[in-house]
Amino acid sequence: MRTKFAIIGGGIAGLCAAIRLTELGEEPLLIEGGSYPTHKICGEFLSPECIQYLHDWDIHPTSISKAVLRTHSSSLTFPFPTAAGGMSHMQLGPALASYVTKYGGKLRTNTHVKSFQPKQSSYDAHLIQLESGENLEVSHVIIATGRIPGYPTQAPQMCYMGFKSHFKNIVTEGNLEMYSFPGAYLGIAPIEDNKYNVACLANLKEVGRFSSPHLFIENLIAKNPFTNTTLSAENNLFGKWMTATIPAFGIKKTPDWLDTYFIGDAAVTIPPACGNGLAMGILGGRLAAEYAVRLQSEKFKKMWVKRCSFQMFWGKLLHKILLNPSYGSHLLKLGNTFPYLTHKIFELTRQSEKAGVI
Ligand SMILES: Cc1cc2nc3c(=O)[nH]c(=O)nc-3n(C[C@H](O)[C@H](O)[C@H](O)COP(=O)(O)OP(=O)(O)OC[C@H]3O[C@@H](n4cnc5c(N)ncnc54)[C@H](O)[C@@H]3O)c2cc1C
Repeated sequence: MRTKFAIIGGGIAGLCAAIRLTELGEEPLLIEGGSYPTHKICGEFLSPECIQYLHDWDIHPTSISKAVLRTHSSSLTFPFPTAAGGMSHMQLGPALASYVTKYGGKLRTNTHVKSFQPKQSSYDAHLIQLESGENLEVSHVIIATGRIPGYPTQAPQMCYMGFKSHFKNIVTEGNLEMYSFPGAYLGIAPIEDNKYNVACLANLKEVGRFSSPHLFIENLIAKNPFTNTTLSAENNLFGKWMTATIPAFGIKKTPDWLDTYFIGDAAVTIPPACGNGLAMGILGGRLAAEYAVRLQSEKFKKMWVKRCSFQMFWGKLLHKILLNPSYGSHLLKLGNTFPYLTHKIFELTRQSEKAGVI
């Protein structure tokens, strides 16, 4: 049997592509190696430009109206142009997955794709081989396997370590808080049920100076009086931090296969400094579905790479500044003197809601 649309990878990007395809009258097959709900290393901050799409699907993240950026010596408060949001993967994943099946999409969880053989002509089919040994023939495929695909490919070089946990008893007045440290940055975002996500990205070299990632993060937290008092071990709801090594950020060189669409972190990994990877997954997933029903894979790739290139430049710059608090302090001082500058940097590190829509 041949399936018209399949999506490999059911993270936020793959789920949103599947939902959009069902809205466009298709019955996509979504193949996810894991299951829902699940935790993922992520700050779980949702940028303003994707909130309306979530509301349209009856998903309502905790509203976040301001960001406070802090270094050891200065701080800057930045009100978002429209409200941003916070929601854990534990809630967002299942909410999106139930939407896929409610509107006619098929979802196969705990189903791992072992290999993918792209089609050679438009009349052929892509061949997807599952770990169970089953083979699927698919006309159009959306690849949303995340920053490290689960099937054979060249292993990326790891540069960073990501940390995540959920905390209770944090008083941030509902703001997103970002702390810049030498070689690392840490964010605190309110999510559901009065809980807070705490996520950190650190240079692997910095982490390597300690005998364990756990000692590194404890030491980092102790460097700032606010994080030191608030992020105490007894407030850590996971008990132990989740950790993972993370490859370099950037636009990936994806192959020019026929009728294939790369989205989410499989296409572009934006530094978490921007808090925009989820929004890019949501917007990119929706757009890929819209281009796929029009059979425009080449056009999609060109549009998406162009759209992300500019954002990536500014995203990487912001990432470098946050990894270096002395640059960060200068930027915050400038931002306090010229608030327009902060708005501009925020805008430059976002996707425009409208661009690329067909
Ligand atoms: C430390 C850190 C903090 C971050 N904080 C934020 C933040 O606050 N806000 C924000 O917007 N972004 C943030 N990001 C980025 C964001 O988490 C990612 O951009 C986003 O989760 C990517 O979604 P995705 O769907 O592309 O990939 P993923 O969420 O990685 O999903 C990929 C899915 O594909 C599946 N898969 C892979 N291979 C196979 C296979 N062979 N067969 C079947 N299934 C497969 C996996 O099981 C997985 O579920 C952060 C990233 C890091 C590292």
